[in-house]
Amino acid sequence: MTTARSQTGTGENLAETFSEYVPSVEARDIVSIKPRYGLLIGGEEREPLQGGAFATIEPSSGDHLAEISEGTQADVDEAVAAARGAFEAGWRDLAPRVRAKYIFRLARLIQDRARELAVLESIDGGKPIRESRDIDIPLSAAHFFYHAGWADKLEYAVPGMRTAPLGVMGQIIPWNFPVLMAAWKMAPALACGNTVVLKPAETTSLTALLLGEIVQEADLPPGVLNIVTGAGETGAALAAHPGVDKVAFTGSTAVGKKIARQVAGTGRRLTLELGGKGAHVVFDDAALDQAIEGIVDAIFFNQGHVCCAGSRLLVQEGIADHLLGRLKQRMELLRVGDPLDKNTDVGAINSHAQLQRITEFVEGAESEGCAIHQSGAPLPERGFWFRPTLVTGLGGSERIAREEVFGPVLTVQTFRTEAEAVAKANATRYGLSAGVWTEKGSRILWMTQRLKAGVVWANTFNQFDAASPFGGVRESGFGREGGRQGLEEYLQLEPAAK
Ligand code: NAP
Ligand code: MG
Repeated sequence: MTTARSQTGTGENLAETFSEYVPSVEARDIVSIKPRYGLLIGGEEREPLQGGAFATIEPSSGDHLAEISEGTQADVDEAVAAARGAFEAGWRDLAPRVRAKYIFRLARLIQDRARELAVLESIDGGKPIRESRDIDIPLSAAHFFYHAGWADKLEYAVPGMRTAPLGVMGQIIPWNFPVLMAAWKMAPALACGNTVVLKPAETTSLTALLLGEIVQEADLPPGVLNIVTGAGETGAALAAHPGVDKVAFTGSTAVGKKIARQVAGTGRRLTLELGGKGAHVVFDDAALDQAIEGIVDAIFFNQGHVCCAGSRLLVQEGIADHLLGRLKQRMELLRVGDPLDKNTDVGAINSHAQLQRITEFVEGAESEGCAIHQSGAPLPERGFWFRPTLVTGLGGSERIAREEVFGPVLTVQTFRTEAEAVAKANATRYGLSAGVWTEKGSRILWMTQRLKAGVVWANTFNQFDAASPFGGVRESGFGREGGRQGLEEYLQLEPAAK
């Protein structure tokens, strides 16, 4: 996808974009997938105590990739005990600069094995290789570098306070950015001196397990990172575990609410990064070429499996017809298909269940009277695919206008005034992201003060940086990841002695 972001990249990126199609089979050769994966507990690969396993498949073909261990309560008990052991045996007391060295080493190893991580991410999860290679994996390495830098400077992160690690972190992540979400959770936790039990999402465990291998290669003390793969029950066992001092969850609002109930009243810490329904507001003075690239990036990046996607387009009435016409033309240029093809813009839908969910949303919108427009992109015969889709003719009360679709589906509404744009943008129970396109600086400031969202982008979208805090308000959760603010979520704070 020729996005605003990739246009600002280096000449090298441009060369990549226009280079020959590399047949997937060559890219595949750089990863080796084992037939079966154990759990990572106390620095060892272990069979789950009850011996259960489930399959992970390749969404672009439906083919079986590997068997993943199904961790149960007993495995979670062992992983938490291993994490506690590693915490008390020295990780918490390690000289901060030594801790930093370990995390720098992790960051460098992620860079060394970036191609392997990117290809595996695209095979197991379905996202275009251009995204995993140029965005997910580099950003993951950047997150470790950034937090390694903080490890011996925590006293400056929260001035006037004495800082201490919290203990054992239970970290549960979703399937849309498997490596990146693991990095967002692990890097600050480890930098602050905590130990970790990580539960990856059921459909995308392979890269988290590869990250586990990298942690072993970096020689981190056994038990500092433990990985318990499994389904929702495994996550629930981790979230409910009394030995976990903090639960850090990224996923759906429905599961986040369940976890909040489990943790309530226990004194254990909790941060929730939940769903979103981001409003993307385009005023009639916006630079239209850039705005169209921004709209495309905001909703079709990662097949729209993005919590902060700009999934509700709000266009000022005077330019609506023109903008929609241009957007439809642009959508015709998006290639849907093989995630390992460097020219692919929109990859495979992550799972059959997610494809069904997206299909139901769009069919529901049609039966509620909305107009559906889809690009004419040819789709591969096997695997899970959904064409870039626009939904117009909305009143605002339809299910698709209110709930998170988590797919390449954009709803479009119009507005006349700034006040109406704000009212429509805020008419949601979520509050993760929003975007504004206008040439007027004063209008950007006016809008950002009123939009109820944790992140507001102006004349761009989906920009991430390890130094910039990310998180939601309202039913999109609480707590921040990234930046100085993200560190505080992993620290015990006490006033420093005068
Ligand atoms: P999900 O169903 O809530 O699952 C998230 C994780 O929680 C998975 O590892 C899942 O395991 C596990 N889980 C399921 N039930 C659980 C329970 N009762 N207790 C503890 N853990 C449980 O979400 P998803 O479908 O994987 O991801 C999509 C959602 O994540 C979207 O709503 C998206 O907006 C949100 N998201 C938010 C952010 C953010 O930063 N705000 C970032 C990315 C995604 P299984 O895989 O086995 O179900
Ligand atoms: Mg998979």
